[in-house]
Amino acid sequence: MLARQLLATMVACSGLSFATTLAQTPPCPEAPKGHEPALWQKAWALHHQALVVDTHIDTTTRILDQGFDMGPRAADGHVDLPRAKEGGLDAAFYSIYVDSRFYGDEQALFANAPTSINDDWLRPREPGAANGSARRALMMIDGLVRTAERHPLRMTLCTSADELVATVAAGRHAALMGIEGGHAIEGDLGLLRLFHRLGIRYMTLTHTNHNEFADSCAPADPRWRGLNKLGVKVVREMNRLGVMVDVSHVSDATFADVMRTTRAPVICSHSSLRALCAHPRNITDDMLKAIGQNGGAVMINYNCGFLDGDYAKARSGEATRRIQEKAARDALAADSDELRRALANLDARFPPAPRPPLAKLVEHVLRAIAIAGPDHVGLGSDFDGVPCVPEGMDDATFLPRLTYALLAAGQSEATVGKVLGGNIVRVLRAVEAKALELRRDAPECNDGRVDSEPLVR
Ligand SMILES: [Zn+2]
Repeated sequence: MLARQLLATMVACSGLSFATTLAQTPPCPEAPKGHEPALWQKAWALHHQALVVDTHIDTTTRILDQGFDMGPRAADGHVDLPRAKEGGLDAAFYSIYVDSRFYGDEQALFANAPTSINDDWLRPREPGAANGSARRALMMIDGLVRTAERHPLRMTLCTSADELVATVAAGRHAALMGIEGGHAIEGDLGLLRLFHRLGIRYMTLTHTNHNEFADSCAPADPRWRGLNKLGVKVVREMNRLGVMVDVSHVSDATFADVMRTTRAPVICSHSSLRALCAHPRNITDDMLKAIGQNGGAVMINYNCGFLDGDYAKARSGEATRRIQEKAARDALAADSDELRRALANLDARFPPAPRPPLAKLVEHVLRAIAIAGPDHVGLGSDFDGVPCVPEGMDDATFLPRLTYALLAAGQSEATVGKVLGGNIVRVLRAVEAKALELRRDAPECNDGRVDSEPLVR
């Protein structure tokens, strides 16, 4: 154990070996149906030797709201420690997610509700819950801290690329943290600095709501037409601190402002491609190219609704169905023929949407590689944060199948290793290096007189 730890430290310090880990390859199980046995064995070995990193996992919400323990294997959801190990998921950024209801004043959320795939949007906002964004983020962080303290031999909270690599080499799951929803800092650059001290290493500038400094892609009407003056300071301060700027969830105008402002590579922690599925949460080919040129990385989201336009269309009727089903259940006697007829009628009008196959996810990964380049693509599953993942990617244990599919599609072992985790570790290192360079710059500070002024472009 001691020798292994020493070796892990050497790997971490060398800064060279981030594409591979020292973890032992578990015995290869029989090839799944339809998989060619020799290629499956090759994929299995590559997958378990590679460093596999996911940049967006929402298990933190389960931990905080349901008291979920990642220790034992769960029968539901997507991720826990046993399934992460089995699937070779070495490291993940856990989402310090702050639901837009904690922000409090965005009417547009309800206006968009009927077509949303996000059930949160349908939930009435709790009175008194507004403006509790920073506290909610702190409680999320504590949930992950408690989890790591409960399982110290299996999981370690990490705050740097070196710590990530060393933790994985020592055989433990590396957990990192990214804020989802820039309203978590409540418009306060001081809170941004403190969240960095607590270990936050990326932040999506928005979630589904516009906030004090940036516009989201979700509400149709912009508030700032991108970033405002405070937004520019937030991006600059994230660069200075070494917090990766995450453009998942932002509007196209915010994206353009971020690319003009940032001095470090940016990430898109969990988005798919708009060319393959026309959803505003997805990114265009031009954005992919821009992130490639900026040295950043785009991590593909596994959410069925972001991968497959047909699935998204079928799902869009489900909100209406839920409302009509509730009305029927309220109006008709339980266990009555009338209710049974009404429900059968709803089933016929709103047939369940079949899940897209794993091939659909692979299509997005391949196109991203083709457009951004093999050094700028990764995996940001949104596991435990989305209602549907593709058939064949049911939870973290299915990850080796993605490695197989990428090899089967003709990608080199080197490219597959980068996509599985090498790229995001490289980006994290680049952001850390930039922060070292910028660290002596004066910290950005709030100025109530100008912060909410629009940018002159
Ligand atoms: Zn998200």
